[in-house]
Amino acid sequence: MNQPPLDIRISPNKTYGRQGTPVRKITFHHTVASALSAVQRFLNPSSGTSAHFIVTPSKIYCCVDTDDTAWTNGKWASNLESVTIEHEGDWRFGYYNQGVIDQSAILVAWLRSLYPEATPNRHREIVATACPGDLPVELIWNKATEILYPPLPVPVVVPEPVVVPTPAPIPEPIPVPTPVPIVIPEPVVAPPPVEPPPIIVEPIIVLPIALKRSIIVMFIEWLIKFFKKG
Ligand SMILES: [Zn+2]
Repeated sequence: MNQPPLDIRISPNKTYGRQGTPVRKITFHHTVASALSAVQRFLNPSSGTSAHFIVTPSKIYCCVDTDDTAWTNGKWASNLESVTIEHEGDWRFGYYNQGVIDQSAILVAWLRSLYPEATPNRHREIVATACPGDLPVELIWNKATEILYPPLPVPVVVPEPVVVPTPAPIPEPIPVPTPVPIVIPEPVVAPPPVEPPPIIVEPIIVLPIALKRSIIVMFIEWLIKFFKKG
């Protein structure tokens, strides 16, 4: 995580290094008075006090490098293991400042990225003091956690594309068959009845008997004549 913007105002009230003590704590304080008055006090060598950071709604002052030991907690062993943060305002009696909380969360997130083993504590857990009043330390710590470990984005569920049904092809019009003309068969014309050929009865020539006789007579006469000549 990147270092947040810091207004550097290095205090002379500090001990270089930490005497080999690792940072185990992030200690929360409140300034009661203004942040600027706290900066002036820390820059004053005769005050004999300091803190690593002072948080305001708009900026973060850095008065002691975190590699060095600030004179904040009123207990030497605690100073050696702590990074100390002053929060502007008198956080007693219901005071609340969202800007200070937001700036502190950014600072705490960065410090936790540097010192992952560090845990939070309040000044009053170290010595008898009202500091840091009702400063919502858990809220700040949790906001810092969200900054350090942002929740995974909810995967955007890409909706399944709505499948537009392909319109059914318009069926080709079924050709209405041309009505086959009904051929009315020509009436069978019965052939005209063939007239049987008339039976031609050969007329039998009936010779009259008289004629037959005369012919016989003539034939006989002819024979007689014939034989006479012969
Ligand atoms: Zn304090």
